[in-house]
Amino acid sequence: MAFPKRSGVARSLFSAIGLALVLWLLPGRAPVTPVERYHLSMGTLVKLVLYVGEDAANPASQSAVTELAVIDSLMSSYSATSETSLIGADAGEAVFVASAAVAEVIERSIYFSRLTRGAFDPTVGALTQLWNFPDAVMPPGQASIDSALTHVDYDELELNGNRVFLRRHGMQLDLGAAVKGFAVDRAVAALEQVGVDAGLVEAGGDLRFWGRKPDGEPWLFGVRHPRIPDCTVISSDVGLSSVATSGDYEQTFEFEQVKYHHILDPATGRPARSTVSATAWATTALDADILSTALFVLGPKEGIKLVEGLDEVEALMFYDNAGHLEYVYSAGLSGSLQFPDCARN
Ligand code: ADP
Ligand code: MG
Repeated sequence: MAFPKRSGVARSLFSAIGLALVLWLLPGRAPVTPVERYHLSMGTLVKLVLYVGEDAANPASQSAVTELAVIDSLMSSYSATSETSLIGADAGEAVFVASAAVAEVIERSIYFSRLTRGAFDPTVGALTQLWNFPDAVMPPGQASIDSALTHVDYDELELNGNRVFLRRHGMQLDLGAAVKGFAVDRAVAALEQVGVDAGLVEAGGDLRFWGRKPDGEPWLFGVRHPRIPDCTVISSDVGLSSVATSGDYEQTFEFEQVKYHHILDPATGRPARSTVSATAWATTALDADILSTALFVLGPKEGIKLVEGLDEVEALMFYDNAGHLEYVYSAGLSGSLQFPDCARN
């Protein structure tokens, strides 16, 4: 059977489609399928999802990786030469002139310390060193916990511009609850700077996206169920670009049938017990990271109350109620969360 000849209208339609295809394939146009890159930094796997062509992906991700390395070297508690460690070495003796990045993270940390009346406290360093996660195998004795606690007090951390001073000898700075979030913010800024219009960066449970997906699909977040592996709560885009989770399953050990984890309550000097996991949404990954730790320590009741009083912050918290896992979330997440069958018990 002979095919009918195309009419003039059909012909111009076909050539228009052809032109559209060519335009879509031209370099510079963000592809629908993103390029993924993985990189080890800050003791965790960092995932980059970039809506760029394969050719542009490597130089772009290199700019993000450089940024991650800079932030890690400035703020790691595991390096004796990081600014965080040098500030501790000068405690009680000298003012340390910090880089702008470190000053920015300290400023935000002090803000949230005051807001949570010390549930979040960047001066927990003496205590976290004593517990020694992730290598810990048994809890420290009460006398050493009490002694470490005398060196924990955010009111004794001074910041004037870039000048940082821990007032008392023996105090230590620990920015471990904020550094990954800040590094994600910096990596996103670097990627935007080199012209990546859309993508996301994730580092160990802290995530930030930017731009619009070329296929017009909305961004979705997956929040890990704290007790069921591979079970994910889905959140639609709530207008906040960043999300971070702190959980009691991340760094743990068991001693005499008791489980211990790495998020410490500065009120007791021991692992905070009222939360199983806390997920915070915010406008920056730094805020989300700090808040996820802060809410974890505060517990669901106080935590959600705090969030309801803040603009552009939302939270989902899992907690244990007499052996049952329950959850609570802030009003702004209503209608945005999807709990899969695996999350129902
Ligand atoms: P993770 O880094 O495992 O994702 P978090 O963001 O919650 O989890 O940070 C936990 C880290 O924060 C700990 O390893 C420790 O360095 C530090 N930290 C623990 N307790 C507190 C606290 N109450 N306030 C501030 N930082 C804390
Ligand atoms: Mg955190």
